Amino acid sequence: MSPSVQGSGLTGQRARDRLVERLRGEGISDERVLTAMRQVPRHLFIDEALSSRAYEDTALPIGKAQTISQPWVVARMTQALLAPVHPSIPPPRRVLEIGTGSGYQAAVLSLLVDQVFTVERIDELLRGARKHFRQLGLKNITTRHADGRAGWPEQAPFDAIIVTAAGAEVEDALLAQLEPHGVLVAPVGTAGAQVLQRWRNTEQGWAPEELGAVAFVPLLPGVV
Ligand code: SAH
Repeated sequence: MSPSVQGSGLTGQRARDRLVERLRGEGISDERVLTAMRQVPRHLFIDEALSSRAYEDTALPIGKAQTISQPWVVARMTQALLAPVHPSIPPPRRVLEIGTGSGYQAAVLSLLVDQVFTVERIDELLRGARKHFRQLGLKNITTRHADGRAGWPEQAPFDAIIVTAAGAEVEDALLAQLEPHGVLVAPVGTAGAQVLQRWRNTEQGWAPEELGAVAFVPLLPGVV
């Protein structure tokens, strides 16, 4: 890896290791998730002026009034996505993300599943994310510039869907693109009152489970 990818000082491996130990102390127990987050250089996904803060456990601005999620939230959502629905069901292989943003969450997922599909409505952010994927040699991420509220029907079905912007509710169109054993993780609600939900198929049909309060930027209509 090149020095900028590797980082040094506040952006190097030791900074990532410290962050991961902190996440472990705060309840993240899935070793697959911790290993992936130890590997992905978060500092490359944010503006250089902020890179010294890349391994603090905080959300940071990425331009266009959007943010890269707090590492704990990325870890929590990824862990919720990978948790086995049933011992007989293998871990998810094809995953759809709505809200590419910086690309960091997609990069973490790309180390854990076979294929990541990610949709972003702001073209400029998507261009940046693609650059980061190329720079890191991540080849199993497919991107699309579109309103992700409609999912990605041409690539469905997915084993898992992760939404990284908050809507008032989970769209039926997304649940319809899941495999029967699938799982969807999404923040739901309005600013100041959002909860992280995990949807799974039950005998009564698709049903949410609440995983705690979160704060995400809103899911917005249309493309920019
Ligand atoms: N997963 C991102 C977090 C980005 S913040 C990361 O790791 O950096 C949420 C992102 O969702 C923003 O980039 C925003 O533009 C995008 N977004 C909001 N509404 C959307 C929609 N309807 N379709 C696709 N992307 C959307």
